[in-house]
Amino acid sequence: MIADNFITDIIDEDNKTGVYDSRVQTRFPPEPNGYLHIGHAKSIVLNFSLAKRYGGICNLRFDDTNPIKEDTEYVDAIKEDISWLGFSWENLYYASDYFDKLYEYAVFLIKDGLAYVCDLSAEELKEYRGTLTEPGKNSPYRDRSVSENLQLFEDMKNGKYKDGEKVLRAKIDMAHPNMNMRDPAMYRIMHKEHHKTGNKWCIYPMYDYAHPVSDAIEGVTHSVCTLEFEAHRPVYEWFVNHLDFLAPPKQIEFARLNLTGTIMSKRYLKQLVDSNLVDGWDDPRMPTICGIRRRGFTPESIRDFCGRIGVAKANSEVDYAMLESCLRDDLGEKAPRAMAVINPLKVVITNMPEDELFEIELENNPNDESAGTRTLELTRELYIEKTDFEIDPPKKFHRLKPGGEVRLKGAYIIKCEDYKTDENGEVVEVYCTYDPATRSGECERKVKGTIHWLPCDYCYNAVVNEYSSLLLEGEGDLLSRINKDSLTVHNNVKVEKGLALSKGGDRFQFMRHGYFVRDTKNGGLVFNKIVGLRDTWAKMNKNNTEGK
Ligand code: ATP
Ligand code: MG
Repeated sequence: MIADNFITDIIDEDNKTGVYDSRVQTRFPPEPNGYLHIGHAKSIVLNFSLAKRYGGICNLRFDDTNPIKEDTEYVDAIKEDISWLGFSWENLYYASDYFDKLYEYAVFLIKDGLAYVCDLSAEELKEYRGTLTEPGKNSPYRDRSVSENLQLFEDMKNGKYKDGEKVLRAKIDMAHPNMNMRDPAMYRIMHKEHHKTGNKWCIYPMYDYAHPVSDAIEGVTHSVCTLEFEAHRPVYEWFVNHLDFLAPPKQIEFARLNLTGTIMSKRYLKQLVDSNLVDGWDDPRMPTICGIRRRGFTPESIRDFCGRIGVAKANSEVDYAMLESCLRDDLGEKAPRAMAVINPLKVVITNMPEDELFEIELENNPNDESAGTRTLELTRELYIEKTDFEIDPPKKFHRLKPGGEVRLKGAYIIKCEDYKTDENGEVVEVYCTYDPATRSGECERKVKGTIHWLPCDYCYNAVVNEYSSLLLEGEGDLLSRINKDSLTVHNNVKVEKGLALSKGGDRFQFMRHGYFVRDTKNGGLVFNKIVGLRDTWAKMNKNNTEGK
């Protein structure tokens, strides 16, 4: 459930006065010109949750008024992403469904003397528009008669003119202090095939006209959008008020989501895809919904995140670490634990016969007893993490070192007796003895370190992809700030046998490493790292509140 915010205050007030008969209807209106990103998730959660809170409805409407950039590939992806986030729209609409109606309404405005066909070229339009400090000039075509405008507009529709030759404009006020009110364009000529209407139209409505009128046609009550549309609100109101809708919708702006180290703009993300800087829209480093899905984020964690960031009127930037923190909170509860050795080093337990095998029982999730246990084989030859052994370790190194002891997770304490290096001085094998009296749960003796391990003959090879931020800090061209080292591939990973049975999308906590997801695209045993275990954000915020 969505917390109280300035939008719920507005709705509460409207319900009191009864402007909309206590009806609440919202919509999520993406333009199908790219894939959704995590910023859109904020808008989705907000629109759907508002409707739910008030027992109203939320529709999905594709704002498909610009045929140049739009495509059904995007339509399908957007639907999939919204469903994955856990929301279902009441009705599915397309702004292009209203092309006939929008045309009729435009004719209506012409008849009322509120719209006219203008022949100024793009450069002239710009020149006539004035500036922030100077008023604009009336177009010489502004006083065309209604009948002439009707004829010209019809001719525009019938393909008599070339792209850019004429536009239909609302007749508002060329001296208005808000430049958006200086006779905004309503229709432009574009001889372009549309993904839904094909070649039926060669004139297309502009956003400033199509959006408010589509909202009004559908019966939207509260049209929630991001702050950059604030200066367009008077235009929004002008159209819905001049078209005599009974209870015209109202536009309410909120701050868009910005995330540290992340650029959220479909246009920019498309550049990354088109220039092959990433592996498609669903590259796990992308802030797209399909990217973070493939990265392993859960819909629950994203909804939780959107709830926690709240809804405000002022733009701000949210720390990416907060999103990661939400994922840890979610998966800490439900991800099964597993052991994976990312950089293996062989350990031989010299006092264990070759054919000896201990069955070691391990908890699947210490936070959830009902998750049960699993069994790993402890044998003479094991893998441990390379970084868990040092010949000459620094102080406070609680892992394995010559003469030192560690506990193998869930099993025995082992002691390092010797090791072997190759010609470069690299350790290639470690020789240990185990103490049979120290089985986990059956012995009091404690050692400082516990490490994860895998039996050499009872594990699988896997690949692990580890990611860091796609965007480097700094100024300048975004494409030049791309972090070329943002993907590290570990090719020689060992994972416990149970993981061979996992499916794409299954998530695990790899002990001492973090959260991982089985990749959905690659057929083999490939795991993507979602986040590490250390929650710097939660820690930081705990310190902050403690300091207060
Ligand atoms: P982009 O600039 O990335 O293309 P957009 O705003 O053009 O985004 P639309 O498809 O027009 O994308 O957006 C659909 C809805 O999502 C709009 O209501 C828009 O305000 C909202 N939205 C887009 N980006 C964000 C964001 N970063 N945070 C919150 N809402 C957003
Ligand atoms: Mg847009």
